[in-house]
Amino acid sequence: MVEATYNSAYKTVCEIIKPITENYIFEATELCCHFLNISKTKLITTDLPVEETVYNKLIDVAKTRANGYPLQYLIGEWEFYGRKFDVGEGVLIPRADTETLIDVLIEYAKDKKSLRVADLCSGSGCIAVTVAKELLNPEVYAIEKSQEAYHYLLSNIKKNHANVTAKLGDVLTFNEDLSEFDIVVSNPPYLTGEDMKNLQKEVSFEPELALYGDDDGLFFYKEITKLWKNRIKTGGLLAYEIGQGQEIAVSEILKEHGFKTICQRADLCDIIRVVYGVKN
Ligand code: GLN
Repeated sequence: MVEATYNSAYKTVCEIIKPITENYIFEATELCCHFLNISKTKLITTDLPVEETVYNKLIDVAKTRANGYPLQYLIGEWEFYGRKFDVGEGVLIPRADTETLIDVLIEYAKDKKSLRVADLCSGSGCIAVTVAKELLNPEVYAIEKSQEAYHYLLSNIKKNHANVTAKLGDVLTFNEDLSEFDIVVSNPPYLTGEDMKNLQKEVSFEPELALYGDDDGLFFYKEITKLWKNRIKTGGLLAYEIGQGQEIAVSEILKEHGFKTICQRADLCDIIRVVYGVKN
């Protein structure tokens, strides 16, 4: 067998994963840089041989990706708002869409110091950790129900040296005496029954617990708004990430519970991704 070089390994990975993703060039680069431990610039130009065991591992991983397994789980970490987060089975992968929610929170918090923030259904902790890093000295709590996701939440707080208090618990039955929040934020499970039947292959490897928001996808918006509104200060913010097309229903839920100045914000793909309101 002719020895594989860095460059030929990259081309082979491209061929293996091409059928599963249009983004195969980006993904092959990510996989090769990670598993061959080489920089992006050197990958294409290096004709040095790759050690056989390293090569075999890379090809195995590429085949797993070709079966639809998420790239992010294979690499084991992913970037969100410029920071790295550990990910793996049992936790939702941080998505660029969710960065819109962070932008809204940063604008609201501008020049305000020491805000109290609760991130509900925290998952990997990408929201809580980013808020802790981007706001001025906030007091951040992150609540997560799944033991597996909680493990990632803790490791991501540590990895990013973030000042976040993690709580293992269900936001629907949470009975600790925590209130007077300036911001309650959540990216809850919001997929509908119909969405769950038509999941993209990659998403089907992510935890159902983090995806399914009941038949209409709205369960957590209704419950969280009802159960957490009295833990928010007057003038405080309740901000949600939402699924495509849920903006009217979620705005209505906030209105029903007395929130004012209800606003929406679109993500980079022009899909309305965030709904937020101010506590009266
Ligand atoms: N954004 C995810 C998706 O569309 C869903 C995450 C969620 O339910 N919060 O696959």
